[in-house]
Amino acid sequence: MTEGNKLTRRELIGKGMVLGLVVLGAGQTLAACGGGGEGAALDCSNATPEQTQQRTALGYVEATTDPAKACSKCNFWQGGTNTAACGGCQLNLGNVNPNGTCNSFAPKA
Ligand code: SF4
Repeated sequence: MTEGNKLTRRELIGKGMVLGLVVLGAGQTLAACGGGGEGAALDCSNATPEQTQQRTALGYVEATTDPAKACSKCNFWQGGTNTAACGGCQLNLGNVNPNGTCNSFAPKA
């Protein structure tokens, strides 16, 4: 073997290690974003044009910054105790995110 071949192997090994780190980093990034598996982020953005208009009017957001005002804790929430799935809203917003909120939030009685 020549010195040139050894360097090529080293380069390949180095690139392989870099690729491995990139793949590992991508997996961690997906996990942080809730990509797949338990605790995956919900996408409750599917709505009719009328529901979308209502969402806009009420300032609906998919993720509240105040957990005390989450849809799942709202009097208008129709998703029951299942906070792992999108649930209905009595104010015609369609299926909303249990962790979402809007300006019409009303705490459960
Ligand atoms: S009224 Fe607003 S906060 Fe309450 S469940 Fe509907 S979208 Fe969520």
